[in-house]
Amino acid sequence: VQNDVWTAVDGYTMSHLHPFTKPNASALQHALDSSKAAGLPDISASPAQSKFMALQCRVLGVTHALEVGTLGGYSAIWLASENPQMKVTTIEYDAKHVEVARKNIAYAGLEDRIEILQGSALEVLGQLKKEIDEGKRPKFGFFFIDADKPNNLNYFNAAVEMALPKAMICVDNVVRGGRIVDENATDPKDTAGRVLVEGVAKDERVESVVMQTVGEKSYDGCLWAILKEQA
Ligand code: SAM
Repeated sequence: VQNDVWTAVDGYTMSHLHPFTKPNASALQHALDSSKAAGLPDISASPAQSKFMALQCRVLGVTHALEVGTLGGYSAIWLASENPQMKVTTIEYDAKHVEVARKNIAYAGLEDRIEILQGSALEVLGQLKKEIDEGKRPKFGFFFIDADKPNNLNYFNAAVEMALPKAMICVDNVVRGGRIVDENATDPKDTAGRVLVEGVAKDERVESVVMQTVGEKSYDGCLWAILKEQA
């Protein structure tokens, strides 16, 4: 599903609500341009979704966010640059993506607030949990899960274990053009949405919803969850 109007609306609204005069706008554009020049896939979160997440973090007063799936650092730069008090930890296993992201983060002047952990996400999440349990790191107030989709429920479960009360978790690309309701879908990227929704539905520790979206990234949607204060 593709609709030029969705892209035009994103372009029009963001050009007014987040114009190039904003302090972080040139660093964000640079991240997109340099990622493209380096041959990275064009799969970063949309500007509108990224800003929405950054604003959620601002409302929640998040000081530590965790991202699974860095790519060129675009969404991480949004989260950190809109929230001056925030530290972002982001996980990426592809060495080239890490290299491009490091340069983009340096260009944005955010090296001291965005930490890239290179490795396979499940392993890195296990290590982070250990460090939290040992008191070496604080729990996180926001999570953006945006890596290999078939692992989404595993990443979600790991996030819940490392979350502050009232933390928010966003899992990207759950709707995938509506293929989430196609019971004949066989691509693990498409069936992952059902696995996630049905798994999260059983989790008493969270309250959650899926919001469908259209825009420059076509028709998709995220699962949003918050940690209840007491399960
Ligand atoms: N969050 C980024 C943004 O919006 O700018 C986009 C992330 S991109 C959709 C997904 C990234 O996850 C890719 O860079 C990919 O290499 C990485 N990835 C996929 N599977 C992974 C895994 N098992 N462990 C770590 N990183 C992984």
